[in-house]
Amino acid sequence: MFRRLGDLADPFLPDPPHNPPTRVWPFLKLQLRPLRHIITASLLFSAASAAVEVWLIFYTGQLVDTLAATTPARLWAEHGLELVLVAALFLILRPLLWTGRESLDDIAFRPNAATGTRWRLHRHVLGQSVGWFRKDLAGRIASRVTELTTAATGAAYTVLHTLSFVGMYIVGSFWLMSAQDIRLAIPLALWIGLYFAVMAYVVPRYRRASQRHQSTQSALTGLLVDTYANIDTIKMSATGTDDPESRRRFADNHTAHLRLQRVEVTINASMMALGTILTVGLVGYSIALWQTGAAPLGLVAASLALSLRVNGIAEWLLDAVTALFGCLGAMREHLPTIAQPLEITDAPTATDLTITGGAIRLHDVSHHYGKETGGLDRVCLNIPAGQKIGLVGRSGAGKSTLVNLILRFFDAESGTITIDDQNIRAVTQDSLRHHIALVSQDASLLHRSVAANITGGVDNIDRTRITEAARKAAADGFIPTLRDATGRTGYDAHVGERGVTLSGGQRQRIALARAFLTEAPILVLDEATSALDSESEAAIQETLSEIMADKTVIAIAHRLSTIAHLDRIVVLDEGRIVEDGSHDQLLTTGGIYADLWKHQSGGFLSST
Ligand code: ADP
Repeated sequence: MFRRLGDLADPFLPDPPHNPPTRVWPFLKLQLRPLRHIITASLLFSAASAAVEVWLIFYTGQLVDTLAATTPARLWAEHGLELVLVAALFLILRPLLWTGRESLDDIAFRPNAATGTRWRLHRHVLGQSVGWFRKDLAGRIASRVTELTTAATGAAYTVLHTLSFVGMYIVGSFWLMSAQDIRLAIPLALWIGLYFAVMAYVVPRYRRASQRHQSTQSALTGLLVDTYANIDTIKMSATGTDDPESRRRFADNHTAHLRLQRVEVTINASMMALGTILTVGLVGYSIALWQTGAAPLGLVAASLALSLRVNGIAEWLLDAVTALFGCLGAMREHLPTIAQPLEITDAPTATDLTITGGAIRLHDVSHHYGKETGGLDRVCLNIPAGQKIGLVGRSGAGKSTLVNLILRFFDAESGTITIDDQNIRAVTQDSLRHHIALVSQDASLLHRSVAANITGGVDNIDRTRITEAARKAAADGFIPTLRDATGRTGYDAHVGERGVTLSGGQRQRIALARAFLTEAPILVLDEATSALDSESEAAIQETLSEIMADKTVIAIAHRLSTIAHLDRIVVLDEGRIVEDGSHDQLLTTGGIYADLWKHQSGGFLSST
């Protein structure tokens, strides 16, 4: 039965909307829409549970009156059936309602809400441009996605599971109390009024303190991610492991936490005082009524039971309210970043890219990353189908920018880029990137198996094709010797985050194997062999020429010997194309390329 409850909703449906709302309540509404049937059922169970709870309190009073008015000998004969029915209610109906509510909220609602929200956020974040990811730390984005999910689910759960039940309980008590004796509703109404007045006073303070705590928490996470990711720099820094900046961020977080706890204790103390007032007021008042003969003894008992119960519930309510505002604070902290609209989207009319030869054309393309300078400046470049060009230029000349624009990692600020006469903005991003194989300098791998890194995550690729690709990339020598921490070996071994367990050269060889395996008609090599030693490079060059044979190729390399033999060399300087021709032509004309070549062949690459 419990398993079926979990299946009441499919967290992977519906597909994510492109831009989730950045405001808290609309965001929650959207996330909860697929669970509305579960929410309705849970609210019905809550109402029934609350009604039974309240009624039982009043039955306590009635029972006292019944016992006072009868003798032990007559009790069973006169009230037997009533007692059996109440016992059945207590033993069967109450636990059933309670379990129903718990299982709806904790099995059908909570895991589905969490997975659904996290999945949709993950899909949304994945849709962000590469430029968007470069503005923040990957670890912080990851922690924002998980914390936002926890906060959103926590807020929804608190409202559904606790606040709705407590609300119904209080309204029910008030109603039954007034039905018994309208005068007894006065202390209760007074208590409710004071309770909400205290809430109105403390909640905004709690909210501010919680938001401040959340933002110092985020800053701290950012610091930890940055520190651990750059551990070499930290270890070698002048301050070593006792870095004053870290200490400052920890201290900020500590101060914000202390402030939050002070507000929390103030709230708890006020609620305790209010609870005491309620108990003394309600019980004292009902005793006074009993003294004047205006109320039966049972009413005193019911008042006592109710005030003690309401005290417990008020504490519960308080925890729920503080948890809710903690969650809302966390949501307000993370939503503006995570729910940012997608910068690069597929046009509504986007079609799949159709490749006829792989011709790439840049027409008057400029991109300065939103600044005045840097990037590319009015570049026109026509790469016919099947041509292989080498892209050369000093660091910062704009080589990676050019490649990033073709891949649509960024949208060019002006100008157009076409592939086989189709504007890359008019085709789907998936189809565009599907037709381009990229091997880049850092060749970071995913923490998955070697085989999955070679296939790019596509299932059902024959193992012999994978080993063949590895052989071509000269990776078949080291892959069989790999073994990860859990004992998986060879192609099944996991490579560690970003492939940290492998050397730069090994990572590049795996990335090259992936490029060999794909059938993409356009190949981009961004310093693809920079981490290889001369021996591995020589081993790969031959097969590299083989896979380049029928493809359009853009190769960026600092080591000019690796691109000198290509059809054409394009030299970039300060974002503009300054030289364009074959290796021999550029050497004859003289210029940046000829200078670089002279420098390199006279230096460490004399063999070329
Ligand atoms: P190259 O690949 O030739 O070394 P890039 O294309 O990486 O050069 O960089 C060209 C220019 O664009 C540089 O001035 C660099 O500062 C700037 N640039 C590159 N990436 C970004 C970015 N994500 N945001 C802002 N400016 C950038």
